[in-house]
Amino acid sequence: MYTFDYQRPDEAQAAVAALSANGDAKFLAGGQSLLPTMRLRLAQPSALVDVTRIASMKTITLDGGKLTIGGAMCHAQVASNADVKRALPGLADLASRIGDRQVRERGTIGGSLANDDPAACYPAAVLALNATIVTDRRRIAADDFFIGMYETALEPDELITAVEFPLTERAGYEKFRNPASHFALVGVFVAKLADGVRVGVTGAAPSVFRPKELEAALSKDFSVASARSVTISADDLNDDMHASAEYRAHLIPVLAGRAIERAMSFSA
Ligand SMILES: Cc1cc2nc3c(=O)[nH]c(=O)nc-3n(C[C@H](O)[C@H](O)[C@H](O)COP(=O)(O)OP(=O)(O)OC[C@H]3O[C@@H](n4cnc5c(N)ncnc54)[C@H](O)[C@@H]3O)c2cc1C
Repeated sequence: MYTFDYQRPDEAQAAVAALSANGDAKFLAGGQSLLPTMRLRLAQPSALVDVTRIASMKTITLDGGKLTIGGAMCHAQVASNADVKRALPGLADLASRIGDRQVRERGTIGGSLANDDPAACYPAAVLALNATIVTDRRRIAADDFFIGMYETALEPDELITAVEFPLTERAGYEKFRNPASHFALVGVFVAKLADGVRVGVTGAAPSVFRPKELEAALSKDFSVASARSVTISADDLNDDMHASAEYRAHLIPVLAGRAIERAMSFSA
């Protein structure tokens, strides 16, 4: 490591002001992605602005048909929260299977979304559930948030303060996990909304995406058989030492079927 300044503001606006004043600074959440990157010298911020003590980013509220999760809530808190478990059990279930216990105690929903790792779990849920990313200055629809590999619509000094999830009839997630990290080799989140089914796929491509052919089939028939009847093209999918593009394409409908089974297992 090398030396850097460390600040721990109590207010979101103070955190943003600290970053705006120093173009070389970065927000720090649980450090689960940022600190390894710094150790490898892939990032060398001159200052870290810790956002984990900002009280307004550490709440979960269930109100008016939507669930709002503060940007600094760690995965373990999301997984164990009674409102999340009742209103969106598929999301609590996803959070409970991120990484290991240590990662879940430190990693945050805001950090995960800002980092936008192509194999991260939350982006699939945020996209499928048609969530809204709330920042210190605007509201960003999930469809407009994920731009590419590790790339989002966020400005460099823009802080994710919360994520709003509309409630759904049924939602579930399944991943074929990397046995070492538990990141998704492929992960599929299915959500049955009032106006149709949305699906978010992570791990399979440079960035999370919605497979339209799967969404169309599941909107007509929300069943395992319907998911399994869809063929996904391997074009543009990741092909690496972990799995070929063809294997990832094969996994998407299989995991969608298992995600439906999980969704159906939660009491409505
Ligand atoms: C061993 C291991 C296993 C893992 N397994 C999984 C897994 O199975 N599934 C999965 O989805 N993830 C997994 N992760 C990722 C982990 O869960 C974290 O979500 C992710 O690393 C982000 O960490 P963090 O919240 O600590 O953010 P940090 O590392 O502190 O920050 C990450 C980036 O986001 C920025 N940032 C942080 N908070 C905000 C904010 N509120 N607004 C704007 N920008 C912000 C930072 O400046 C930085 O650029 C794993 C990580 C590790 C180390």
